[in-house]
Amino acid sequence: MSSHLEEIAPESTLPYPPVHTDKKFVVFSDWDGTITNFDSNDYLTDNLGFGFEARRKVNERILAGELTFRDGFRQDLESVVAKGYKFEECKKILRESIKLDEGFKEFYKFCSASDIPVIVVSSGMEPIIRAVLSNLLGEHEKEIAIISNDAEVKEDDTWMIKYRHPSSHFGHDKSQAILPYRRLPNPPFTFFFGDGVSDLSAARHADMLFVKTKPGGENDLAKYCKRENIPHVLFSDFSAALVAVKSVVSGEKTAGYWFEKGRVE
Ligand SMILES: [Mg+2]
Repeated sequence: MSSHLEEIAPESTLPYPPVHTDKKFVVFSDWDGTITNFDSNDYLTDNLGFGFEARRKVNERILAGELTFRDGFRQDLESVVAKGYKFEECKKILRESIKLDEGFKEFYKFCSASDIPVIVVSSGMEPIIRAVLSNLLGEHEKEIAIISNDAEVKEDDTWMIKYRHPSSHFGHDKSQAILPYRRLPNPPFTFFFGDGVSDLSAARHADMLFVKTKPGGENDLAKYCKRENIPHVLFSDFSAALVAVKSVVSGEKTAGYWFEKGRVE
């Protein structure tokens, strides 16, 4: 199975951080809408680009299989560039507007004190994630590895996303961040936190998948996991998730216990 996955692994145009070979637990988490309160790319598209309605139409076409996530996401961002917004302006606007999930700092503190690496796995662009993260976490930002896409700013100040895996229809195939851990001689127990379509590629590869619930109701990742019978735990925020993670790390509860329960609040 793993050799088959190796064969079909898309070529990466961007480097990966070194794999931690000696950890008992590793946390992987989506960034936009999972660690942050808003999805920063949706925020840009809705407020500076072609707006919410047009973005919804792109999303519907992605879900209907008429458009890949990679190409749809690029269309969203092109609409921001078309309105003349420079990359640095977008970074500044997001740094001022995006907040963290209220429980994330505490969650991060626990992981840091328990020798559990936290790795952000995102379809967003690293310079924007770093700008928002350093604003919110200060010095600790540098301790967090980010596996994401990048941005390319041209001489005329226009810019575009640079995909990590241009040959994958996800643009960034998130499973490629987790799979090297599964292949270690003593693999760690892996947690993955996500909320949406960009997480589908990673959903089945972690030992314990958490899906963030939204005030608006069900989300696309939860729907997908239900349809595909992928065990997962719904969580409302990182303070709730911390309860479950602590119990698994201490050995008091198992992932199976939480899958059975279905959610943690
Ligand atoms: Mg997300």
